[in-house]
Amino acid sequence: MTRFVVIGGGHAAGQAVASMRQGGFAGDIDVVGEEPHLPYQRPPLSKQYLSGEEPIDRVYLRAAAFYDERKIKLHLGVRAEHVDRAAHTVRLSNGETLKYDKLLIATGSRARRLSIEGSDLGGVHYLRTVADVDAIRAAFGKGKRITIAGGGYIGLEVASVAVTAGLEVTVLEMEDRILKRVTTPAMSAYYHQLHTGRGVHIRCNTKVSGFAGTHGRVEAVLTESGERIPADLVIVGVGIVPNIELAAEAGLECNNGIVVDDHCRTADPDVYAAGDCTNHPNKLLGRRLRLESVPNAMEQARVAASNMNGGDAAYASIPWFWSDQYELKLQMCGFSADGDSAVVRGDPKTNQFATFYLKDGVLVAVDAVNSPREFMACRQMVDKRSKPDPKKLADPNVPLKELM
Ligand SMILES: Cc1cc2nc3c(=O)[nH]c(=O)nc-3n(C[C@H](O)[C@H](O)[C@H](O)COP(=O)(O)OP(=O)(O)OC[C@H]3O[C@@H](n4cnc5c(N)ncnc54)[C@H](O)[C@@H]3O)c2cc1C
Repeated sequence: MTRFVVIGGGHAAGQAVASMRQGGFAGDIDVVGEEPHLPYQRPPLSKQYLSGEEPIDRVYLRAAAFYDERKIKLHLGVRAEHVDRAAHTVRLSNGETLKYDKLLIATGSRARRLSIEGSDLGGVHYLRTVADVDAIRAAFGKGKRITIAGGGYIGLEVASVAVTAGLEVTVLEMEDRILKRVTTPAMSAYYHQLHTGRGVHIRCNTKVSGFAGTHGRVEAVLTESGERIPADLVIVGVGIVPNIELAAEAGLECNNGIVVDDHCRTADPDVYAAGDCTNHPNKLLGRRLRLESVPNAMEQARVAASNMNGGDAAYASIPWFWSDQYELKLQMCGFSADGDSAVVRGDPKTNQFATFYLKDGVLVAVDAVNSPREFMACRQMVDKRSKPDPKKLADPNVPLKELM
């Protein structure tokens, strides 16, 4: 019988195996995931799972019965250690070897670690897995001082949960503004104000140089400028690193991600890759990307699953993302940096507005705060390369339908 092996038990892997069965593949499916959990969603880890609003069952993509009923064999808590492409085998950490006809590598990414003085002290946490969050939650407590290194989306989501839970929160950002890597100065300023208004201390231009503590536990964060910021708990959120080592050792091309084409194929016709670990082309944007986003992981997983089963699906989506902070849902489509002008619809003071970005008059991106309709309309307009009249776009009384 034909066998598909999927390495990685995350969002892309979970979606891929569901799509394989949905697409009619009746052969063997084996999933190898090094975490002990069923494939799960990471977004709640810095949001509802961290705050305790969602139990672990809600975080899983699907219940165990889903995999049993579809005869999808899960090898959980097991690491894939070596891929032999000539022999079509994967060697596992439990001593087993799996033979494959087609292989999907969906190894995702891991938190980038700091290797500075004191980074191995207890109380210095990263946030990537359920296990990480369980450890963080156990250390949460009203009045405790939490210092977050990194003012990106994950750091700020943690800040919003922590300050709401009554912790004293400080965010340290080495750049001159939070969210610098991902958004415009105006959006950075908006989120800066939002957080400081809720009691979060934000320090920009502040680079962490080490951690100090006694008895193996962190007590303070040290900065390059010589400060010592007291902390009971530290979260480091300074980006991710794609898990490409397995693919690279198997001789597959890697360049800031496993290199695939728009069919999620590597140069080996029997090996595919999907999700955070890939460097893939985006025809609509006219360039290659490596993305850290659920919609990308799901879409690539669907494409890979279809093509492994003899299909001819191509990936062509405008990237989109979201972030939840306090009662605000930010939805983003496209990249604001691709625009040469911006149009705001709504009033940021009401926490309900959308900033549209245009390039040569063509709509290329949106940042929509508590504005799901504007976000949805923009996705369609970006797909259609719409050229809306900026004055009408800025006027909330003009229905967006008229501008499409
Ligand atoms: C805290 C947090 C919040 C986020 N919030 C959002 C959000 O709001 N919106 C959004 O779009 N995205 C968000 N993301 C990003 C999103 O979760 C990722 O883009 C998505 O999980 C990627 O899925 P993936 O399957 O490619 O990789 P992963 O989810 O990283 O899964 C890969 C899995 O493969 C396993 N693995 C790796 N190597 C091996 C091996 N050799 N053998 C076996 N298993 C292996 C890993 O342990 C991991 O479990 C967030 C991420 C985090 C960490």
